[in-house]
Amino acid sequence: MSEQTQKVPLLINGELIPSKTQQWLAVTNPADQQVIAQVPLATSQEVEDAISSAKAAFETWKDVPVGDRARLMLRYQALLKEHHDELARLLAQETGKTFADAKGDVWRGIEVVEHACNIASLSMGEILENVANKIDCYSITQPLGVCVGITPFNFPAMIPLWMFPMAIACGNTFVLKPSEQDPLTPMRLAALFKEAGAPDGLLQIVHGGKEVVNQLLTHKDTPAISFVGSVAVGEHIYRTGTDHLKRVQAFAGAKNHMVVMPDASKNQVINAIAGASVGAAGQRCMAISVVVLVGETKHWVGEMRDALAKVKPGVWDDPEAGYGPLINPQAKQRVLNLIQEGKDAGATCLLDGSNFEVAGYPDGNWVGPTLFTDVTRDMSIYQQEIFGPVLIVLEVDTLEQAINLINENPYGNGTSIYTSSGAVARKYQHEIKVGQVGINVPVPVPLPMFSFTGWRKSFYGDQHAYGKQAVKFYTETKTITARWFEDDIDTGVNTTIELK
Ligand code: NAD
Repeated sequence: MSEQTQKVPLLINGELIPSKTQQWLAVTNPADQQVIAQVPLATSQEVEDAISSAKAAFETWKDVPVGDRARLMLRYQALLKEHHDELARLLAQETGKTFADAKGDVWRGIEVVEHACNIASLSMGEILENVANKIDCYSITQPLGVCVGITPFNFPAMIPLWMFPMAIACGNTFVLKPSEQDPLTPMRLAALFKEAGAPDGLLQIVHGGKEVVNQLLTHKDTPAISFVGSVAVGEHIYRTGTDHLKRVQAFAGAKNHMVVMPDASKNQVINAIAGASVGAAGQRCMAISVVVLVGETKHWVGEMRDALAKVKPGVWDDPEAGYGPLINPQAKQRVLNLIQEGKDAGATCLLDGSNFEVAGYPDGNWVGPTLFTDVTRDMSIYQQEIFGPVLIVLEVDTLEQAINLINENPYGNGTSIYTSSGAVARKYQHEIKVGQVGINVPVPVPLPMFSFTGWRKSFYGDQHAYGKQAVKFYTETKTITARWFEDDIDTGVNTTIELK
């Protein structure tokens, strides 16, 4: 790593601050291992400074009228759209995503900012007149204070944008700890937020790993923690945060199944499965990683293999590329180990992406599309989230068997069913214990007027991301019971809690 490589600053109180730490990590291009930047593991004092700055800014921001908060989001949305391509280029280079997919990552974040523009109607309370004699009752929502966001590598635009715009629109201030693997996109998002007119201190960014996270998680001045990442870390975040009496939402890993019924359109299924399993090299929490073939659809496996094999890998600016490299060599090795474990356990590897190269990029973290059949549920390739372009085929005879098998899997992030029967789809949506269901839609990520609602091991907490639930997560409700006296009539002393 040369001394000239750009050093990613921290963002504290509106200023870009060079970290004083001695500990730096390389941010690399996943296609060739070139070092793009160095990211600091912030010192404990720097984390403290970020929290204090957010705390001080909250004292003013919490009283800023809702229309002004909404107008900040309107300006931010316009700027993000103006810089959409530029953000996507930056994002593609640090993640390895294709340009089109990187644009999608940014776009799904812009949609949440659009949602945050509606903060006035989203945060309205309730009122009921005459709950007792001449007494009215009403509720209002108020912000919490300094909210914290800890985000994963796989959506460096969308996931930070799930968090800070909604939190700040609600009147909070924010400290973001982005993934240390791709911090440049979040820094650019923050710069545009400032350009949109965000007052200093509304958004801070600190970089680092578990020490920084643990400091944010246990600090007395951080009442709410939003986390997205792996299950192991998500469980730790939820346990530690709630032990410290904080409000926590932790979105975690997944194993998403697609059920294919014999009455489904074969072409639709084959295209959907190829895109949903191999897209983003399988590094999506909503990627389809298991296809459950019901009845005669087991004969569609050959065509599935051909469709997967055709998806072309490539670097971000190759317009023909369907997906890029994995994020880092360790992630690649982990996927290769799991593929080997599948083979050793006796699964049939119909398409093997283990020894995969892309011309001109010999050092890229490439894994090709991989397809396993003859998989049993005790195998690690079924038990674990692989987070690579690996698809597992399971065969069952009936819809009931498919539903039971999915409900027995510990994860509950996303699922989809392909069928032409409304009754089958209705039964599936009702009985499946998964938070996001697609009906002839392979990757059913909800738009922000709804919430992103993972279940079971894929989510710890109760209020989910964006939609109306984000407003509940980022605010307290206060309920007021009010009486205004019309005259001086003495109503006497009431010693009960009953309102009269
Ligand atoms: P990760 O858990 O390794 O890291 C997530 C964040 O936690 C990062 O900011 C990281 O610095 C921090 N972190 C890592 N180890 C930590 C530790 N020991 N203590 C405290 N903090 C720690 O996840 P990742 O590899 O960046 O992202 C991929 C994972 O995220 C996958 O499991 C994927 O399914 C999941 N994910 C889930 C959703 C969802 O909505 N459910 C969305 C996107 C990604």
